[in-house]
Amino acid sequence: MQLTNKIVIGSDLIKPAGESFDVLNPATGSLLQSCTSASSEQVDLAIATAKHAFTAWSEQTHESRQQALLKVADTIAENIDELARILVLEQGKPLQAAKNEINGAVAFTRFFSNLTLPHETVVNNDEKRIEVYRKPLGVVASITPWNYPLMILIWHTMPALCAGNTVVCKPSEYTPFSSIKLLEYIAKVLPVGVMNLVTGRGEVGAQLTSHVDVKKVVFTGSIGTGRAIMKSASDTLKKLTLELGGNDAGVILPGTDFSKYIERIFVAAFKNQGQTCAALKRLYVHESQIDEVAKLLAERASKEVVGDGLGDSTTFGPVQNRQQFELIKSLLDDVRKTGGEILSGGEPAENGGYFLAPTIVNRAPKDSRIVRTEQFGPILPIVAFTDLKELMSEVNSGEEGLGGSVWGDDTEQAIALAKQFETGSTWINNHGELNPMAPFGGCKMSGIGSEFGQNALLDYTISHSMHISL
Ligand code: NAD
Repeated sequence: MQLTNKIVIGSDLIKPAGESFDVLNPATGSLLQSCTSASSEQVDLAIATAKHAFTAWSEQTHESRQQALLKVADTIAENIDELARILVLEQGKPLQAAKNEINGAVAFTRFFSNLTLPHETVVNNDEKRIEVYRKPLGVVASITPWNYPLMILIWHTMPALCAGNTVVCKPSEYTPFSSIKLLEYIAKVLPVGVMNLVTGRGEVGAQLTSHVDVKKVVFTGSIGTGRAIMKSASDTLKKLTLELGGNDAGVILPGTDFSKYIERIFVAAFKNQGQTCAALKRLYVHESQIDEVAKLLAERASKEVVGDGLGDSTTFGPVQNRQQFELIKSLLDDVRKTGGEILSGGEPAENGGYFLAPTIVNRAPKDSRIVRTEQFGPILPIVAFTDLKELMSEVNSGEEGLGGSVWGDDTEQAIALAKQFETGSTWINNHGELNPMAPFGGCKMSGIGSEFGQNALLDYTISHSMHISL
């Protein structure tokens, strides 16, 4: 399958003129296809094109932009099979999961198309009327990671477009081809220059985040890159939405009849091979129940069929890239040295692909690396506790603050504990499930700003107060 090695500027597919980098298939570890980076001049051109398109796009009625988003949703839905196949080849996830991601992108696009911008009258008397409008910002740069390349691109860009901004996207260098194909389709149904895409590594991202004509950066990725972006954007005081890493904890309340939650806990930890920002990344269970919980989770884990995402029976794909795989392997080495019993998985494949079956580590020491580090892969450490009151300081002690969960039958007790999490979201008897109505974002080092809900739109605008003296 030949993948499109182009960038998208002003609705045209253009040959990129920068250096080339290899994109590998994580199921084999071998070259999928080479991808060429946009040159610095082409990045400037993409931004200039988006800036030029901004005037007409922002002046369109909100309703016509909403209609445009619906066309975007339709064209993605029509091309789901092709997009899903490319996604599997470069990202690794099983075909059905790739389709689910794209169906999710369609649903979110439709949701965003329904949002409207508020227009309020905040003072209204005989002398004065003050009206507050929301205005779009201009060119928005979207920089995306490799775990959900298409879904996250849609989360970033559809609210931006709906609010009247134009966009330049830069997908991850690990997974560029599905985003290029997506843009190939989307650009056809939008006015020229409204949505553009450049390829490349971090340097291309850095050019976007420092460019004077980019008014906002929306970024999803690691905490380290988020910091670099904040510095780079500071000279031009850009608006930022940063969705960064997390090390989400889940707590099972003592005495809970936990067997009914095992399936949901498993999915929360291992969805997308654990490569999900708000995955359940450490599970705390009372000393009296931990071994039974771990045993049931390990039994559940052993049912997964690990393999190439295009395999008919595969339910669990590879880790996405070599660097991530090496991190996972070093964390497993650490478990073997510092304690914790590996009950399932634990044996990384050495056959070219980056495979590790879902791995349950029982009784991981609370200060071990596997508990303290965002593993972003298929390992779940389970940690014993005895005192629920003391536990929360441990749960909240890391720098991340994305999500957390409490599992138990006593909803009031679960809510009381969930309120103590220093996170942007908490779930009771679930974890990581996103809803387009609910704002999603991190606190502490997990990010700035939030996505979804009405915030999704407002964060791509500035308020404009009009003081009318009568
Ligand atoms: P990453 O930070 O390495 O890369 C993300 C993107 O940033 C890529 O497109 C990359 O090319 C670009 N980039 C790298 N250096 C840059 C720079 N200096 N300036 C601008 N752009 C630059 O992240 P990753 O490894 O692709 O993704 C994994 C991380 O993302 C994990 O920590 C995960 O938790 C996090 N994540 C967070 C969320 C969330 O919503 N909070 C969602 C998904 C992933």
